[in-house]
Amino acid sequence: MKLWLDGGLQDIESARVSVFDHGLTVGDGIFETVKAVDGKPFALTRHLDRLTRSARGLGLPDPDRDEVRRACAAVLEANPMPLGRLRITYTGGHGPLGSDRGEHGPTLVVALGETTRRPDSTAVITVPWTRNERGALAGLKTTSYAENVVALARARRHDASEALFGNTVGQLCEGTGSNVFVVLDGEIHTPPLASGCLAGITRALTAEWTGAKETDLPLDVLERADEVFLTSTLRDVQAVHRVDDRELPGAPGPVTAKAMRIFDERSGDDLDP
Ligand code: PLP
Repeated sequence: MKLWLDGGLQDIESARVSVFDHGLTVGDGIFETVKAVDGKPFALTRHLDRLTRSARGLGLPDPDRDEVRRACAAVLEANPMPLGRLRITYTGGHGPLGSDRGEHGPTLVVALGETTRRPDSTAVITVPWTRNERGALAGLKTTSYAENVVALARARRHDASEALFGNTVGQLCEGTGSNVFVVLDGEIHTPPLASGCLAGITRALTAEWTGAKETDLPLDVLERADEVFLTSTLRDVQAVHRVDDRELPGAPGPVTAKAMRIFDERSGDDLDP
């Protein structure tokens, strides 16, 4: 397997970054996960736009978009696979022990892993911890993911594949690595970005293609929603058949099934300008 580091392809076994890279020591980094079908990245321009927004939010220099594109193409060409997940990681780079950035420029790594299509439905839990919609990192895709790691581990202990967070004012926000949608009286709703959720690319496409509305939703909407579904790069649109102890029999329900169909059809189009 080859990955991209220091401006070129390297063997995964011998590729090295500094042990004082700030991505490792203080979580000073950002990332993107991009789906690649038959060697072609999906919606790469949108991912690059979000990578740039995240970099600006952290005060990192803008990533070199041409280099990231070249890196993705090279890594995909070197590691052919039917369904892959490209991981673009961009960190503050090697610096002093402490939180001040050093003189060295950022580190860019692009790696690829094989993946499989997710099941049509899944179980989720809610967690008592909150997303801080007013925090410095709200809406940025940073490598500071430890809270998501803890929440996902709790989900796994409950035979669930995702954990959903509310925000500090009790509104539904998002999952550890997905956005959430609910169906109420036949209409699709998803929390607005002001809830503190990530501007998911799958979320935006799904909302555009299905006419879903952005609505402030209390966390307990999950106790009465007719249908619930998740969106993410690796899940696409995925129905939820259990939220905590509440079963949602027959998931995917009719509205979710239609959203899944629309997403499957439309995501075959070339979205990259
Ligand atoms: N929310 C969080 C916290 C995420 O990490 C992700 C994706 O990794 C998403 C939502 C979904 O975003 P996307 O559809 O762009 O994959």
